[in-house]
Amino acid sequence: MNHLVDSFGRVHTDLRVSVTDRCNFRCTYCMPAGVVTFKPREELLSFEEIVGIVSVAASLGVRTVRLTGGEPLVRKEIHRLVGMLVNVEGIDEVTLTTNGLLLEEQASDLFHAGLSRLNVSLDSLDEKTFESLARFNGLQKVLRGIATAQKIGFQTIRINAVSIANLTEREVVPLARFARQQGLTLRFIEFMPLDASEEWTADSVLTGEQVRKILVDSVGPLVQQKQIDPGQPAIDYRWADGIGVVGFVDSVSNAFCDRCDRLRLTADGQLRNCLFSTVEWDARQILRKTFDEREPSDWKKEMALLLHDCVTAKARAHGIGTEEFERPERAMYQIGG
Ligand code: SAM
Ligand code: SF4
Repeated sequence: MNHLVDSFGRVHTDLRVSVTDRCNFRCTYCMPAGVVTFKPREELLSFEEIVGIVSVAASLGVRTVRLTGGEPLVRKEIHRLVGMLVNVEGIDEVTLTTNGLLLEEQASDLFHAGLSRLNVSLDSLDEKTFESLARFNGLQKVLRGIATAQKIGFQTIRINAVSIANLTEREVVPLARFARQQGLTLRFIEFMPLDASEEWTADSVLTGEQVRKILVDSVGPLVQQKQIDPGQPAIDYRWADGIGVVGFVDSVSNAFCDRCDRLRLTADGQLRNCLFSTVEWDARQILRKTFDEREPSDWKKEMALLLHDCVTAKARAHGIGTEEFERPERAMYQIGG
């Protein structure tokens, strides 16, 4: 079958699957402060439905699946989904991004289910700052989760930290020292206009360049690495002394759209060709129509067409900072970061 190539020649091999919009944190840059209304359970895709969509995507060249949310570890028995996905023909790697709060309990199940890699979001090592960002007091538990995951055998654990101007500058150096000491990869992600409270402004982005300057001034020189995987959004740097890697996703100041190979599936079964997409393609409707009406199965063909439609419609770039830029209706926790 035809690979998922968009009108600008970008080949799509990576699918981000959100498994829930629920979360046990309320990060200021993602979720609203007050009462949050989540999608009713029956609107979320079942594990079987997710595997169905991933199988068709894999037949069209998708090779990696990244589970996210909301918080993926609040979805019951998420390790079972990992186990199902690693067995899908064509899928080489299943990874997961978590806030780490439930990692201590679940790391072993996830590892033994075949999860390849873990990304743990951690913006601060200071209890108060952590709590003010996550709106939850969970730093020590997250740290125990990371330590447990390392002990259990995860080789590659990456720490993701969001960079917000006048807020996270003080976190940069402690996070870098911690990552170097613990043998963790660190990645700084520029704050994007996907916060539910819509407080993002261009001035609120602490750019990758600013973070690099802080690191070089306070920790030591960094050497830019050659890009091995062209679809990787981060530009990686190695510390000149050889100890550790720091990546930068400069999604606002230096967007990687020209290399983007990602598609997204929301927890309620909508395909998106970009975080900032304002249009969605309804994959759930195809599955439910088929399953409910027990039609003879040409749903795979229909799903393949939907995936192609979604990819074909992909814009050249997200356009943040341009006049045409339009904020998507959904915030990050509802899309899946
Ligand atoms: N709950 C999990 C977590 O926090 O890792 C997975 C979902 S979360 C939406 C995925 C990633 O998106 C996290 O690393 C988070 O820091 C990042 N993120 C959330 N809102 C963001 C924003 N407005 N700008 C940049 N990154 C954001
Ligand atoms: Fe939850 Fe992750 Fe959003 Fe924080 S960034 S509120 S942990 S989904």
